[in-house]
Amino acid sequence: MRYISTRGGAEPRSFSDILLEGLAPDGGLYLPEEYPHLTPEMLGQWRTVLAEQGYPGLAYEVLRLFIDDIPAEDLRAICDRTYTAEVYGKDEIVSLTPLGDEMLLEGLSHGPTLAFKDMAMQLLGALFEYELGRRGQELNVLGATSGDTGSAAEYAMRGRAGIRVFMLSPKGRMSDFQRAQMYTLDDENIHNIVVEGVFDDCQDLVKAVSADADFKRDAHIGSVNSINWARLVAQVVYYVAGYLRATTSNDEQVSFAVPTGNFGNICAGHIARQMGLPIKHLVLATNENNVLEEFFRTGVYRPRSSEETVKTSSPSMDISKASNFERFVFDLVGRDPERVLDLFAAKLVRLGQFDLSDDPVFAQCSEWYGFQTDQSSHVDRLRTIREVWEDRGIVIDPHTADAVCVGRRLQEPGVPMVVLETAQPVKFAETIREALGRDPEVPEAYAHLAGLEQHTVELPVDVAALKAYIAGNIG
Ligand SMILES: *Cc1c(COP(=O)(O)O)cnc(C)c1O
Repeated sequence: MRYISTRGGAEPRSFSDILLEGLAPDGGLYLPEEYPHLTPEMLGQWRTVLAEQGYPGLAYEVLRLFIDDIPAEDLRAICDRTYTAEVYGKDEIVSLTPLGDEMLLEGLSHGPTLAFKDMAMQLLGALFEYELGRRGQELNVLGATSGDTGSAAEYAMRGRAGIRVFMLSPKGRMSDFQRAQMYTLDDENIHNIVVEGVFDDCQDLVKAVSADADFKRDAHIGSVNSINWARLVAQVVYYVAGYLRATTSNDEQVSFAVPTGNFGNICAGHIARQMGLPIKHLVLATNENNVLEEFFRTGVYRPRSSEETVKTSSPSMDISKASNFERFVFDLVGRDPERVLDLFAAKLVRLGQFDLSDDPVFAQCSEWYGFQTDQSSHVDRLRTIREVWEDRGIVIDPHTADAVCVGRRLQEPGVPMVVLETAQPVKFAETIREALGRDPEVPEAYAHLAGLEQHTVELPVDVAALKAYIAGNIG
């Protein structure tokens, strides 16, 4: 299988070649030349695989359709090592819990950082280690985080050969839990750099270092951001697992409700549906930062400025633009790279937005691609957390509450709605207290983190100081 750029200006590449890259050289995003086609017979076989070999077996079956340049036995071993009960706390890896009539909660947050990003990041860590070893190369992952992505990356890369992580975080801006989770790691290859500034300062530092092409090459700087193709393909697996667990035959339809920020999670759902997984609707739920809700409702895509991006109680969805959205638009406009260029490289840059409301393709978002959308407010999320607790005795986090709330509004009789749970409530204690008047339970394995020593280095907002720190800690 070859991968092409949404902007048409890159040579087709193999999986292993794009694995260690972010954007394609032409500024586009990589996608397979063609999605693999899933027949009802294959789905039946996968049902057996999931029953007999569990999640790692299913992951192997799905991934091998997209990855043909890693030998089968190696890929199988990577899946077996990645999706273990030891890492995810349970044999099933993901859980499925009834939430009401025809509504199910698919638990994706049993990984080491208690959020769904572990599902993809853990696989990425294993694939990176494998590929770097095969090439005799090393990689220094440089990133900025306001909390969740940074810890998922560190827990995925810790202790791995050939990889170091330099993760910038803003001083005093993360929750106690997030700090305890990240800063207590004492692996030699993990560097927590606390910046005396805000998140935007951290991100600007990463951009400045990456913009120095010589330094970037010499210091083997790379990233693990949400546009990495391997992260998306890893997420396709839990749509298949959720479908198989929610159904008994291979032609039933289900819908998925997805709390959405950068369009990574739901883009994997789109890919699963394009492959032929019987998904009726992909319900895209946003919070007050409704860039994507607005597009799917009106046809206008208008990324926001940072002043326009509000701080909400579901902070991992507080985005100003949706970095994976270009992949869906590529499919929507009939995989025409000229149109993607016009929309993303011309209109968006010149006008700050593009408008497909008068274009016949816009209607296909719902009619052909099955998207539905709505947004939740803070009050909606608090009410939903309270209702789910009172009805079911389950505490859900505010991101998941967003999807439960919107999923309920858009549910249709006869079609099960699988809501993707993206984080554990303990990560968002303040909102849980506001909703339920008490603290979320701290999982036992995490209670001890509070007492452990934290390992950080503090740096000013200074590109030269950051480069010097990296240079002094590699090679
Ligand atoms: C990252 C994240 C999301 C949003 O996922 P995208 O792939 O960016 O759309 C939702 N909930 C939680 C808890 C997250 O960490």
